[in-house]
Amino acid sequence: MSDAQRKVLVVGGGISGMTTAIEATEAGAEVVIVERNPYLGGRVVQLNQYFPKLCPPACGLEINFRRIKQSAGVTAYTLAQVTSIAGAAGGYDVTITVQPRYVNDNCTGCGKCAEVCETEIPDPLNFGMNTVKAAYLPHPMAYPFKYVLDPSIIGTDEAKKCKEACPYNAIDLEMQPTTVSLQVGAVVWATGWDPYDATKVDYLGFGSLPDVITSVMFERLAAPTGPTGGKILRPSDGKEVRSVAFVQCAGSRDENHLPYCSGVCCLASLKQASYIRERNPDSKAFIFYIDVRAMGKYEDFYTKIEQDENVTLTKSKIARVSKDPETGSPLVEGEDISQGAKVKQTVDLVVLAVGMAPGTASVKPDLEMGYDDFGFVTSPGDSGIVPAGCVKAPMEVAASIQDATGAALKAIHRTLGR
Ligand SMILES: Cc1cc2nc3c(=O)[nH]c(=O)nc-3n(C[C@H](O)[C@H](O)[C@H](O)COP(=O)(O)OP(=O)(O)OC[C@H]3O[C@@H](n4cnc5c(N)ncnc54)[C@H](O)[C@@H]3O)c2cc1C
Repeated sequence: MSDAQRKVLVVGGGISGMTTAIEATEAGAEVVIVERNPYLGGRVVQLNQYFPKLCPPACGLEINFRRIKQSAGVTAYTLAQVTSIAGAAGGYDVTITVQPRYVNDNCTGCGKCAEVCETEIPDPLNFGMNTVKAAYLPHPMAYPFKYVLDPSIIGTDEAKKCKEACPYNAIDLEMQPTTVSLQVGAVVWATGWDPYDATKVDYLGFGSLPDVITSVMFERLAAPTGPTGGKILRPSDGKEVRSVAFVQCAGSRDENHLPYCSGVCCLASLKQASYIRERNPDSKAFIFYIDVRAMGKYEDFYTKIEQDENVTLTKSKIARVSKDPETGSPLVEGEDISQGAKVKQTVDLVVLAVGMAPGTASVKPDLEMGYDDFGFVTSPGDSGIVPAGCVKAPMEVAASIQDATGAALKAIHRTLGR
């Protein structure tokens, strides 16, 4: 076998991409990961806890980071994107562009640069719900464990101050974008998903009412590494949240938005109800759903949360979220489908369970891949480009890992041009 044939390119360093990389390298392939963020881990990094066990994702991620670190067969480029791929199964020429981090491998994560940096930017990890210094560690267990300088301060005195404060000569303000060319035998496309844009579902108040947030934002609001240190506080006034309405299918199963079910959102909201319930015994969670989708082994999790008397599940379609004229808090209105009655509930916070859309819904790379009606990637049988994880369909972490393991085998097979 040629060197190129033994090599697999993995685009996207989320849980799916990392799993494929680890499995493929442990089976003898060489792997190059290309990740656009300054860290690996993808959207799992932003979760507070995993359903159904309710453990923090940190432990699972840490094991994966360790396996990647210990493997001589994986090279990971962060802040990187593929700019071209040409060829066929068994032989692809690939070009990657790597954006400057302005921080080199000398970085120990000591944080001296951030101490002197006064400029703040919206925190990308927390969806801009807080700010971070423009010299920042993406999150406390970031892999690679290295600071990043935001491009907005490059060329300013602020950047020079950061450089002077670094005791390890780790800041390089002259860094430029670099191009990497390589040959690989197969490509695994694992670019994952994006939350559906909640501003498009305008009748649900996102963007106009400060106390209406999305499910992905709520994960950060509950996380110890989030904008409020894990205290669930209202964005509008910082008050402790004691009641939350979870609006299911916010834009999902709707011909005007995402016609499909993401399959994960009901479980995510049940899990998020437990975030609020465990913080305060008097807190209340109201879940408004069309159908609860908690299939297979997740049924028990649904039953457990449902038994809590302070969690109310109502089969309903929410028609409007507005500002309650009396309290100023969000008011959720709709129809209780099983009772045939109107629903009206004022709460401290509304969480919209937005669906999962593939990153490839808007930009479809012109490669040997197919796309379904919603932009999810399919793969023709003889293609050397193999999709993995949520870029194929919405799925939870366990399913993503299974799918990515299968993709590793398929990719190794395709490196041989078969
Ligand atoms: C609100 C919510 C809560 C959830 N909670 C749970 C839970 O508790 N338990 C559970 O099992 N699942 C949960 N999930 C599902 C879980 O988030 C997914 O299963 C998981 O993120 C799938 O991983 P992935 O690697 O396929 O995609 P992603 O996590 O999206 O990773 C894709 C990676 O590819 C990178 N990328 C994208 N485009 C490019 C590009 N062009 N070039 C280079 N890199 C690129 C991205 O930056 C990212 O790092 C939840 C989902 C939602 C919506």
